[in-house]
Amino acid sequence: MTDTPLLQVRHLKKGFPVRGGLLNRPIATANVIDGVSFDVPRGKTLGLVGESGSGKTTIGKCVIRLIEPTSGEILFDGIDLMKLSGRELRERRTDMQMIYQAPGASLNGRMTVGQIIGEALWLHERLNGWAARDRVLKLLDVVGLKPEHYHRFPHEFSGGQQQRIGIARALAVRPKLLVLDEPTSALDVSVQAQVLNLLSDLQQEFKLTFLFISHDLGVVRYLCDQVALLYLGKLVEIADVDSIFDEPKHPYTQALISAIPEPDPDEKRDIITLSGDLSRRRPTRGCPFAPRCQAAKLDICETVEPPLVETGNGHRVACHLHTGAQV
Ligand code: SF4
Repeated sequence: MTDTPLLQVRHLKKGFPVRGGLLNRPIATANVIDGVSFDVPRGKTLGLVGESGSGKTTIGKCVIRLIEPTSGEILFDGIDLMKLSGRELRERRTDMQMIYQAPGASLNGRMTVGQIIGEALWLHERLNGWAARDRVLKLLDVVGLKPEHYHRFPHEFSGGQQQRIGIARALAVRPKLLVLDEPTSALDVSVQAQVLNLLSDLQQEFKLTFLFISHDLGVVRYLCDQVALLYLGKLVEIADVDSIFDEPKHPYTQALISAIPEPDPDEKRDIITLSGDLSRRRPTRGCPFAPRCQAAKLDICETVEPPLVETGNGHRVACHLHTGAQV
């Protein structure tokens, strides 16, 4: 069982109704997530990357069943979460916690830090009194906060400290998986590095598995073992982090990586500019990236959707340049 990935997602779909007509009735379904599959091995980090609207946060919420997927399988520790009853799912949910982008908004402003973390301990273990207080103080120490922070309210903290409180609350229920939804994007750059280092240390210490959602490839390179690129709800490339950054194969990945700022001003990289944005509707057929792709050449790109194919060493890409089609 231990060799089995902690999280296995298979053919995940999430559709939302599109309403129209005089009576504003559902007239179609928009697939925000369209057949996404990936694994996250135990103790590892998979980065989900894409522009706003690519569906990465929806995947994170589907995985922990905060929103209901339309179809697919979500195997957590070998158990299909889609088949669990409400009570069974509630029991499992403590194994999976989510850390949000805006730490202040995810904390109850009327509760002290001690109450916020203590509430999680009470709900999970029915722990209260001095035992709960001791555990809260230990958790504060683990995330780099001080005992005197116990009685303070969230608004008395900086954004980075608020994120530490959120992480301590998540750790209180001893989770196996953390879904990290842009956890540092609302923080100053210097604080971002501190929170990323903290997450990296906690992963080692508590043998945590991370699903890391981000649009920042620099951060992804630092923290992730594997990276999955999403475009309009489709997985277009997935590989280990070095393969993605050293040999990106999909034109979309190549464009995103070309736009990462070079720390050395003498190192010049040709930036690939993408035209248009994700507000453009997905083509009804062909490759979803075709309207923005500079490499699109043949009819096949606009008529046949490329499958996700393996190109070696677990590197998979959905592009006709790599499917053997005559482009
Ligand atoms: Fe571009 Fe064609 Fe590849 Fe799609 S399949 S990414 S349009 S080259």
